[in-house]
Amino acid sequence: MTRRSRRSGDPFQPDLLQGKPIDAVNAAFLVDAERWRLQFRCEDCANRRADGSCLYAWPNAVMRAEPFAAVSDDGAALFCRAFEPDGS
Ligand code: SF4
Repeated sequence: MTRRSRRSGDPFQPDLLQGKPIDAVNAAFLVDAERWRLQFRCEDCANRRADGSCLYAWPNAVMRAEPFAAVSDDGAALFCRAFEPDGS
């Protein structure tokens, strides 16, 4: 059996857009983040160095950008895959 993506081009990426505009998905994420008080960015992560860079050398400009975008222009997730809450 062949796995098929709901989004063409990447068989492993879930369809985060589900037919919605990218701006709407990003806006909804920020509303939910506020509502549920999600900690999901470098400033909340134990892997962030004092200078703002990432301990694991992830290019973290997206994670630190304002406004934050949960998905890219092509609908791919922009979340870091090594996030670890700092516990504070
Ligand atoms: S692991 Fe991810 S969230 Fe943590 S500092 Fe690095 S890029 Fe940021």
